Amino acid sequence: MAIVAKVIVDVPTMQTDRPFDYLVPARLEDALQAGMRVWVQFGKGARKVSGMVVSVSDQSDYDGQLKPLLDVLDPAPVLDHELLKLSKWLAQTTYSFWIACMQTMLPTMLKIDAVKVAEPVKLTADEQQKYFGTADSLAIGSLNAEQQVAVMKLAQAGKVAISYLKKDRARVKKIFYLIPQLSLEQAAAEREHVRKNAAKQLKLLTLIGEWAANNQHPALMTVEHQYGLTKPVINQAVEKGWLKLEGHETYRDPYPELQHQPLTKPLPLTPEQQTIVTQINAAVAERDPKTFLLEGVTGSGKTEIYLQVIARVLAAGQTALMLVPEIALTPQMVNRVKGRFGTHVAVMHSGLSDGEKYDEWRRIARGEAQVVVGARSAAFAPLKNIGVFIMDEEHETSYKQDSAPRYHARDVLLKRAQIHHAPVVLGSATPSLESRARAEKGVYTLLRLPHRINDQPLPPVHIVDMREAFAHGAQEDFSGPLLDALRIRLQRQEQSVLLLNRRGYSSFVMCRDCGYVAKCPNCDISLTLHMDTHTLKCHYCGHEEPIPHRCPNCGSDKIRYYGTGTQKVEAKLQQLLPDARILRMDVDTTRRKGGHARILDAFGDHQADILLGTQMIAKGLDFPDVTLVGVIDADTALGLPDFRASEKTFQLLTQVSGRAGRADKPGEVFVQTFNPDHYAIQYAKRQDYEGFFRQEMAIRHRGNYPPYFYSTKIAVSHVDETQAAKAIFSLAKELREHLSDQVIMLGPTPGPIARLKNRYIYQIVLKYKHEPALAATLQHILEETQQSSRHGFLVAIDPEPLAFV
Ligand code: ADP
Ligand code: ZN
Ligand code: ZN
Repeated sequence: MAIVAKVIVDVPTMQTDRPFDYLVPARLEDALQAGMRVWVQFGKGARKVSGMVVSVSDQSDYDGQLKPLLDVLDPAPVLDHELLKLSKWLAQTTYSFWIACMQTMLPTMLKIDAVKVAEPVKLTADEQQKYFGTADSLAIGSLNAEQQVAVMKLAQAGKVAISYLKKDRARVKKIFYLIPQLSLEQAAAEREHVRKNAAKQLKLLTLIGEWAANNQHPALMTVEHQYGLTKPVINQAVEKGWLKLEGHETYRDPYPELQHQPLTKPLPLTPEQQTIVTQINAAVAERDPKTFLLEGVTGSGKTEIYLQVIARVLAAGQTALMLVPEIALTPQMVNRVKGRFGTHVAVMHSGLSDGEKYDEWRRIARGEAQVVVGARSAAFAPLKNIGVFIMDEEHETSYKQDSAPRYHARDVLLKRAQIHHAPVVLGSATPSLESRARAEKGVYTLLRLPHRINDQPLPPVHIVDMREAFAHGAQEDFSGPLLDALRIRLQRQEQSVLLLNRRGYSSFVMCRDCGYVAKCPNCDISLTLHMDTHTLKCHYCGHEEPIPHRCPNCGSDKIRYYGTGTQKVEAKLQQLLPDARILRMDVDTTRRKGGHARILDAFGDHQADILLGTQMIAKGLDFPDVTLVGVIDADTALGLPDFRASEKTFQLLTQVSGRAGRADKPGEVFVQTFNPDHYAIQYAKRQDYEGFFRQEMAIRHRGNYPPYFYSTKIAVSHVDETQAAKAIFSLAKELREHLSDQVIMLGPTPGPIARLKNRYIYQIVLKYKHEPALAATLQHILEETQQSSRHGFLVAIDPEPLAFV
């Protein structure tokens, strides 16, 4: 009986979203399972492509001659049954290609690179000799420029064929050990046969004798370092049969410094915490996939609750998945989880190298790590038998991916919770309106922690009206009251945190004579200044150019830097407070691996008085000697054309205020603003989430915004602006024909950035309460545009977009 593999091939098109059948050769029959990556032939040109087996069957629905499956890449499935199913669900709910979803779920190292190769078709003997010699193919990337041109000419003449071979990137790290093959006596005897001036070999023989006598197998790396014996010397010894090299697979450990730390003990819970832990534990025990919304003020002990729930789950032989926002995945958070559960923990976030990510992923897949703490993509961690899902800071927008597949990690957890029959805990001091509204309706169970641990008061928040402050001679970004408060902290040797509510490098270059602003040649957006590299960069397409000394427009040399980046604020602050030791934390100072940790360690170590930073300092930091938090510009987000502007402002102010007065010393917060009466700022001053929630809900209700309405954004792009505009209008027409008249359509309008990477963007936003025909209509539109994608159209569908414009 023939065995057939159903394979999703790595050729992202609509057509390939359904599996193709391949005949499994007898030699692979036993090994092959669903969830393994394979090589197959695809299409007319017998192109070799990779693919994923989604099922194995003994029959085919295809009447023609089946092509054989060529090879299997994995010894074991890389996607288990649950994750395969999840990948299909992800493709459907985010309108993405199935293969793209599978790849999103796997570490980068399991992606496959294409290598361009040339193969002879009809070459003269001379040409064969000149280009290929005895080889039957050439990797084009390995040729020099001249040779490449020559080979491409041969290709144009039909003399060689160009194809793409694909290469698996997965690399396992091995540590090699030296196994002596001589006894002490044999090694001594062997020394007699070695030339007297071959010092290294003599030394090695002595060592081999010692290792043999003590039954030691030293690591190659140690031997190289300790005795200065190089690879060639050791290889020679292996050839002579003195030694054997034995490779052992090993994991790259992203946190070696945490390896030998003693584990922390669970804290005795407060009665408030205990009630909550009891409720969550009950749901875990009953395998009840319900969702809890844990609304707890900053410093109320939410993290301790997560840790104790996880401990219970582990004791029951299950596993736990905990998500935290990338930005909060500071060493402090990793420390708390690793500090409690040690080697049971795997960490997944973008700060790890590809190799480290692959190894953490394998430790999880093999069941060697039972607790995963990670950022968004860790939602797909290959844990089995998950007992609880936790999402800290559930309101964070970084949980939504803004490129395809446009998934929200919260939805992924809720879906997996159903499959694993396990509860989800969403935690935040400032829950998203969507989640809080669901709790209001009883869809989620609301758990509240209104008090800080030990009844520490929340710090008082002072609002500083910057309009008045300027009238009283405020120095640029610093009002009198904030400066006074900073000076007091310096005297008392306490620490302060200052938040600059804008991207760290928001400065740009402008000509004072003609107003010229340097713009990206590919995108409709100004270039931003990076002082560390002395260049202007586009944050969208990566374009980079030197800072001009003369205006390219009018030739004037009055070209100046504008905007207040963190660097500029730091310089000003240093001038105002010459004695203060300031640490700056922004994208520029944290770009390198470990940059984050270095700055936080230094601050924790009291090497600085003031930590000045962007949003990244607002989350999760816990420093006992911080008694002052200052927000330099609370308004930045309020000015954005985004219906969530107030929500984001409220969240940020509340989060950052929570950094003050976390230990026994009371804290204080200063918020500088030009809109002191804005309700988001007023509720943040009172740290009144519930009050903010009610007022904001009323506003959303009046404006027909989420969470009262669902929303979907549809964008079309094309290099030709007229084509893009035409396409969006015909799309709008098609949508109106298929959808009910309850749907509210915003647009068509140009995208918020009208041109990106040389493509013009037009968009529509749909708002609706109940629209059963929507999914099918959008799917149909995608299928249609698949055909037109050959004419250069791209359609992007974003379910529940985080911004409308
Ligand atoms: P959150 O995550 O809500 O901001 P944390 O879990 O970080 O709060 O707790 C705030 C501080 O209180 C931390 O320093 C933590 O160690 C401490 N803490 C938490 N729970 C307890 C407890 N039951 N007893 C004593 N200290 C606690
Ligand atoms: Zn650009
Ligand atoms: Zn100019």
